[in-house]
Amino acid sequence: SQADRYAVFGHPIGHSKSPRIHKLFAEQTGQNLVYTAQEVPADTFKAAADAFFAAGGKGLNCTVPLKELAWNYADSLSEAAAAAKAVNTLALAADGNILGDNTDGIGLLNDLTANLRIELPGAAILILGAGGACRGILAPLLKQKPASLVIANRTPARAQAIADDFKPLFPVEACGYEALPGRSFNLIINATAASLSDELPPLPAGLLAENGTCYDLAYANRPTAFVSWGLANGAAKSVDGLGMLVEQAAEAFYIWRGRRPATAPVIGLLDAERQSADRN
Ligand code: NDP
Repeated sequence: SQADRYAVFGHPIGHSKSPRIHKLFAEQTGQNLVYTAQEVPADTFKAAADAFFAAGGKGLNCTVPLKELAWNYADSLSEAAAAAKAVNTLALAADGNILGDNTDGIGLLNDLTANLRIELPGAAILILGAGGACRGILAPLLKQKPASLVIANRTPARAQAIADDFKPLFPVEACGYEALPGRSFNLIINATAASLSDELPPLPAGLLAENGTCYDLAYANRPTAFVSWGLANGAAKSVDGLGMLVEQAAEAFYIWRGRRPATAPVIGLLDAERQSADRN
């Protein structure tokens, strides 16, 4: 029988690891599917998605800058997607409707708890950045009952808008970077796009509590600026978002195929590959 078709849409999409990750998942679980990457600028998203599903496509991942457009495109939304106001996974349902979900938050949570063994209940958490990624990861983090959660952003009003939206769930605090000196956190998550250009928000010394964790949502072949900051500031663990990338893919795979691939071997393989890529 013909293989079911899936794809990731984004712009730029050239370096996406998603086709490789889903190929490894499919091999591991014996599923017959094809997963490709397609360059889709925002202004062509609707036409491209319509064409994909009209041609029999079963599911899409959507990445930068399409997650809000995908949220609008879906016929119905999961609780996670509704809270995030962003969709990274579209799935064709049996009745022909397109379901929108967001697996970024659960992906981060799985990496933090199952892979890295970070204790979230009672933790003081700081998120840097107030874009779509911050919004996407908040609900699953807050459900873990941290002691406190602060969002710091270059534009404090954007952090405040997110804090207001999540007020019914948790008293999230919003601030600018100038309010950080003198405070300390057990877990600092970098959800800014700054790392991608080797930049770092202004972070004071002492911001990371003893035995703390730094987690950069961005990932690269070399340690990101934020991962290096964590190591230089005494982090017990300072890692980038490769684990989250594989975990969010595994959740999408589960939505589409009803099978849970093992993530650890895939994270291990991609991590080994990028280390050898960086040496070459
Ligand atoms: P957005 O563009 O929506 O948000 C960007 C945020 O970064 C804004 O808060 C912006 O601040 C801030 N920012 C950008 N440049 C700087 C800078 N030089 N200094 C300080 N702050 C800056 O991006 P997303 O939320 O979609 O994505 C954020 C990151 O998360 C990206 O690196 C992305 O790759 C990563 N990501 C990783 C995933 C994974 O699976 N590992 C999944 C999803 C995202 P301001 O509001 O002031 O403009």
